[in-house]
Amino acid sequence: MELLREPEQFRAACDRARAAGRRVGLVPTMGALHAGHLSLVAEARRRADFVAVTIFVNPTQFRPGEDFERYPRLLEADCAKCAQAGADVVFAPAREHMYPPGEETRVRPGATAEPLCGAHRPGHFEGVATIVTKLLVLAGPCVAVFGRKDYQQWRVIETLVRDLCLPAQVVGAPTVREPDGLALSSRNAYLSPAERGRALSIARGLSRAVRAFAAGERRAGTLRAMVQVQVAGAADRVDYVALGDPATLAPLPDAASVAGSALVAVAARFGTTRLIDNVVLGEDPAPIAWEGPDGDGG
Ligand code: AMP
Repeated sequence: MELLREPEQFRAACDRARAAGRRVGLVPTMGALHAGHLSLVAEARRRADFVAVTIFVNPTQFRPGEDFERYPRLLEADCAKCAQAGADVVFAPAREHMYPPGEETRVRPGATAEPLCGAHRPGHFEGVATIVTKLLVLAGPCVAVFGRKDYQQWRVIETLVRDLCLPAQVVGAPTVREPDGLALSSRNAYLSPAERGRALSIARGLSRAVRAFAAGERRAGTLRAMVQVQVAGAADRVDYVALGDPATLAPLPDAASVAGSALVAVAARFGTTRLIDNVVLGEDPAPIAWEGPDGDGG
């Protein structure tokens, strides 16, 4: 497996693969790789013959005061994991490579980027859309794989690929979780054991909603409240607990009832760590497979 630092080297490697008749698969990440990321590499392997993983902590998607500086940077270990997972190339550019002096262009997503994290992290999805566009243009992949753990990000990218006529298929892969239900995230490394325990409230709340939906509950407000009560009782701050349309992310008001399926999305802070998670009611399994009758997780 090759580690490339320069955009032109990366473009050339992908060009060579395509010229040899290979389908290029792209997996963009910020590194500190875990089994969730590696599941995307495996998905790309199934759909492509040449798999490129990018590792870049993208400054434009962080707001001032967020965790850009402390975000874990573990390139050597990440490369070993990528090689093991069957990646052909890792592209890990320097900041100046992706944002050279004088650069000024941004990709601005639309309505899909407005609710949820878009409302709480203004400019975040513009940063995401800008870096992902650059990576797609450099790599020219047939398929790009994203995690549904970052559900809104996946939908924003799907929309931008459609709107900019980029010739790539965008795939959303299922969320990989710890055995106790916590969604894997590079940011979990920030959590103290006590915070991690409290963070399980997200998986617990989402699981209650999945089970209630399976039992026939369709009132949006009731489903939302089941999640809200769990998370609000454990988190240091709740950014949102929201129901929305799984395709457009348009919010579903409490007074509505769910027709078909619905996204339930959560963002909350435990200590200084902001976590997000979601399920699509009617599609995803409960994050916690079984809970005891007293709801203590069994
Ligand atoms: P990140 O490095 O956090 O920017 O994530 C890179 C990619 O990995 C994104 O497409 C994420 O949605 C995906 N990802 C992160 N955590 C998980 C997870 N637990 N399961 C599946 N995909 C994930």
